[in-house]
Amino acid sequence: LTFEEANLCQTLNKNIAKAGYSKLTPVQKYSIPIILAGRDLMACAQTGSGKTAAFLLPILAHMMNDGITASRFKEQQEPECIIVAPTRELINQIFLEARKFAYGTCIRPVVIYGGTQTVHSIRQIMQGCNILCATPGRLMDMINKEKVGLRKVKYLVLDEADRMLDMGFGPEMKKLVSYPSMPPKDKRQTLMFSATFPEEIQRLAGEFLKTEYLFVV
Ligand code: AMP
Repeated sequence: LTFEEANLCQTLNKNIAKAGYSKLTPVQKYSIPIILAGRDLMACAQTGSGKTAAFLLPILAHMMNDGITASRFKEQQEPECIIVAPTRELINQIFLEARKFAYGTCIRPVVIYGGTQTVHSIRQIMQGCNILCATPGRLMDMINKEKVGLRKVKYLVLDEADRMLDMGFGPEMKKLVSYPSMPPKDKRQTLMFSATFPEEIQRLAGEFLKTEYLFVV
């Protein structure tokens, strides 16, 4: 299967070619059609498997169909997509891929993480934010400070969920998913990625995803 055959869109195909990707990796082959079909997904995938593009590309294709427009310099931004990952290195990698694939569209990815000044995160967010890439603690901080609104979230990704649990971010994940302004699971698409699949992750998947979610290894 090639990316041209994966039913993404023209602009994305151009950016994929520019990145030098030609064939889909296994996790991409299984995940992209499921995500394009609008279904929830729990995928077991390691770093290096190509999992980042596996969720970013179909989400970007959806967002381009949704007709996203960039809003700027608002006190509170309302991203259509939120991606959460445990570490600053990982979330920054995801952000860089998102920016690369969103090139030439009006979709603006933003990255925020802990260990930096909150004013820096706020400034990034206020410049317009369609895809918010964040570590869990900083994300909840921005939500509590009302710098990020959740009403428009249609796509929610929890990457390396097992590592987030190990690092003690279980409560943040639960708080985010059940936040009063977070659209309920039937109004959003939720994707979970995890290298391992222990009982606690299965329980979280049952709680966060629609009941008919699909599971790929
Ligand atoms: P990830 O598992 O998402 O961290 O990706 C691992 C590496 O593989 C990254 O450097 C990606 O840019 C690269 N990559 C992802 N998908 C493909 C693909 N289909 N063809 C070639 N390289 C890829």
